[in-house]
Amino acid sequence: MHETIVARSIFSAVSAKAAELNARPISAKISCGQLNPINDEILKFAFEAAAKGTVCEQMKLEVVHIPLKATCKKCGKGFDFDIYSPACENCRSEDFEIAPDAPLLLEEIEFEDT
Ligand SMILES: [Zn+2]
Repeated sequence: MHETIVARSIFSAVSAKAAELNARPISAKISCGQLNPINDEILKFAFEAAAKGTVCEQMKLEVVHIPLKATCKKCGKGFDFDIYSPACENCRSEDFEIAPDAPLLLEEIEFEDT
């Protein structure tokens, strides 16, 4: 399962950072694109399983879904691509270019103050 792999890689990144700082992580923020979407609930569940009994237990995960960006070829305006309404927000042209999807990123980790 995709989320399990993602959860494990987040867990190892957070654990490594926690060990380096010798601090307890409270929360982490992850962002991902639209073409490789993550099910938040499955991810959180998989993370909890991976973090059980470690310094990462009890920490919260926040997943931010970043919309696909598109640029209209007619008027040049940039907009968030909406799969249900694939047209330029400004001029309704359907001639646009879609930017590369956002990668999965571990944006930030919050640690407990010691
Ligand atoms: Zn346009």
